[in-house]
Amino acid sequence: MVVMKFGGTSVGTATAMRQAIANIAEEKKTGAPLVVLSACSGITNQLIQIAAVAGAGNLEEAKQLVAEVREFHLDLIKELIGSEELRKEVIENIDVYLTRLERLTEGIEIVGELTERSKDRFCSFGELLSTTVFAAALNEHGVRSEWIDIRTVMITDDRYGFARPLVEICRKNTNEIIKPLLDVGTVVVTQGYIGATESGRTTTLGRGGSDLSAALFGSWLHSESIEIWTDVDGVMTTDPRMVPEARSIRVMTFSEAAELAYLGAKVLHPDTIAPAVEKNIPVYVLNTWHPSAKGTLITNDPELLKGKSHGGLVKSIAVKKAQAILNVRSNRMFGRHGFMSELFDVFERFGISVEMISTSEVSVSLTVDDAAVNESFIKELHTLGEVEIEHKVATVSVVGDNLRMSKGVAGRIFSSLCNVNLRMISQGASEINVGVVIDEGDVAAAVSALHCEFFPSDRCDAIFEKPAGS
Ligand code: ASP
Ligand code: MG
Repeated sequence: MVVMKFGGTSVGTATAMRQAIANIAEEKKTGAPLVVLSACSGITNQLIQIAAVAGAGNLEEAKQLVAEVREFHLDLIKELIGSEELRKEVIENIDVYLTRLERLTEGIEIVGELTERSKDRFCSFGELLSTTVFAAALNEHGVRSEWIDIRTVMITDDRYGFARPLVEICRKNTNEIIKPLLDVGTVVVTQGYIGATESGRTTTLGRGGSDLSAALFGSWLHSESIEIWTDVDGVMTTDPRMVPEARSIRVMTFSEAAELAYLGAKVLHPDTIAPAVEKNIPVYVLNTWHPSAKGTLITNDPELLKGKSHGGLVKSIAVKKAQAILNVRSNRMFGRHGFMSELFDVFERFGISVEMISTSEVSVSLTVDDAAVNESFIKELHTLGEVEIEHKVATVSVVGDNLRMSKGVAGRIFSSLCNVNLRMISQGASEINVGVVIDEGDVAAAVSALHCEFFPSDRCDAIFEKPAGS
């Protein structure tokens, strides 16, 4: 069996839901899948806004926003469910949640305080609503399915906003509650992202957490694969908005996927795939709208990896904008130990994470999120030495597992970037990425040049005129 996870855009409209249902019906021919859903796109953000508005004491505005959430889901029901009786039943079901949401809103306005715990409660309604509508629509379209409140299965610790599962309990629950249904051919529809503590308080796994839910269930159920259905053709060679020739990557390793995610590509979060890596369960990133396209397979299985990749050397080019370079210079570094520890202590105290780093005997260059840089942090750094800051830079990283085994890649990277001013260079410690830091204004040209170097297309010849004779 497989786990099929549909993201917000794949359940964000009635048309998208119908398409997702068709994909599930197709999968069901070979066995009932576990279907894990996100909230409809935009709804989690709206719930967070409702919480904030209620917390700030604006009850009327919060209620208006709740009414919009209600209208949105009612419209979906109207479009998807023809049978009068079923429609009535689903409306009653979503009304239970919407009434609770309204009461919660009033409660928060009265106490005038919004805790992490109540925020999770707010956020949980997105998935509870999307799955309720979707499960009914599946049944209406003739796919027999069972809806499960995952809070009876996904039992977590009480780190609200970033909860993690109590694995043994979850595994047992999965086997007792979900598996028997799948075994008799019933599709199970449930919520990603949410869970509950042992005492029954609602928790969430953090934003984007439904991918993690899917991977966890895949690992507890020993599924054949985990399918992440989204609205793009899998993981791309680079952002297609920047380079129209970007293609989808057929197959990549878990470490390539993790590295790309860290380096700014919109791929699965590395935590997400960890449960799949442990059990070596292949993860497919697929396009809901093109179910027959192959998407991207993420795996470490040498058999599956064999001969399927194009480009070979480089898998993808990732970009992270809105970064800043910090240069810290101090003669105190020279021939002494302990400086780095003092430096990192400052980052630790301000909760700022270092992205790229490069050092010499007397200076250290680091990149951080531009938005994280603030006056008191810089003042603190000044106690260690001279500090220079360059804002509005971007990191561009070339990622591929085979980079470490190949000669001449760095040469190709740097010669294709010969017209770009490189502010910093780093060969990732993992040896599977080479990164450069450049001005944000140079990103389009740099990515285009790198893409042409490693994934040549006809357009490249036109843009980058080859010197005669080459
Ligand atoms: N709905 C949640 C979010 O928007 C979880 C998810 O979509 O993965 O973050
Ligand atoms: Mg998501």
